[in-house]
Amino acid sequence: MDVELTFLGAAGNVTGSCTLVRLGEHRILIDCGLFQERALQTRNWEPFFVDPGTVDAVLLTHAHLDHCGRLPKLVKDGFGGKVFCTPATLEIARVLLFDSAYLQEEDMRKKKRRHEKQGKTSPFPYEPLYAKEHVEDTVPLFVPAPYTAPVKVVPGITARFHEAGHIFGSAMIELTLEQGGETRTVVFSGDVGRLHLPIINDPHQFEHADVLIVESTYGNRTHGTVESIPDELARVIMDTHRRGGNIVIPGFAVERTQEILYPAAFDVRRQPDGGDSDGDLQQAPGVVRRGDRGAAAQRELPL
Ligand SMILES: [Zn+2]
Repeated sequence: MDVELTFLGAAGNVTGSCTLVRLGEHRILIDCGLFQERALQTRNWEPFFVDPGTVDAVLLTHAHLDHCGRLPKLVKDGFGGKVFCTPATLEIARVLLFDSAYLQEEDMRKKKRRHEKQGKTSPFPYEPLYAKEHVEDTVPLFVPAPYTAPVKVVPGITARFHEAGHIFGSAMIELTLEQGGETRTVVFSGDVGRLHLPIINDPHQFEHADVLIVESTYGNRTHGTVESIPDELARVIMDTHRRGGNIVIPGFAVERTQEILYPAAFDVRRQPDGGDSDGDLQQAPGVVRRGDRGAAAQRELPL
């Protein structure tokens, strides 16, 4: 079978996910993400490893920018094929890509002004990686692919998107490659979520793959249980409240923030240390009674 996988990002680093799959004369990309580590951001400006005009399609695992944020650059540089992703990924990616273009343009304006003040000149041109109009050219290429439904991507390549349990719409992509009577299954995990999260479905569990490409960002860590999260969060909030401090939680706007807010709104009322549950807790702004979800929805949370 004449098939080749080339890892073009998120290999030896965390961001910039992009894998080229070539089957005979067909080329597809799994993800087309931004490099977001500061030291690697210049890689976003380098020409793509493959001529974007020769790529037949892109398949997205999910809408985080390190998986889809270079798509408008791919389009700007000549890509005109279809972009397959789940319907929820389509909706979220559309918002994030316009936001990304705005930030790229804003960053460039600030950098230019700063350099003018300092009398410096950048070795790179003063233009954004891509602009709003490139996102406008990208969005019509999106094709929704519901979970589990087979999608004919190009002759010889069929894709199925399965729940990845990472963010809304996130998918593991199962490719079936067929050529000359041979068949191979390749699974791309994308970012994989945890079991039993409160607002996201559990990831699909595969029974078989000939090749598995799996994310390993947290592969060297043992997480605590999901069930322990509300207690840990409650402990941090209450300790800080008692000391009169503030809590600053850096979090991705998509997914992590919701995961923090959910237990903060609904579960923090529980006392992990068995202390007086009607004491300090009642005075803590935004702390709501467990199960009192209607009230939680109407309250302003401090986080
Ligand atoms: Zn992600």
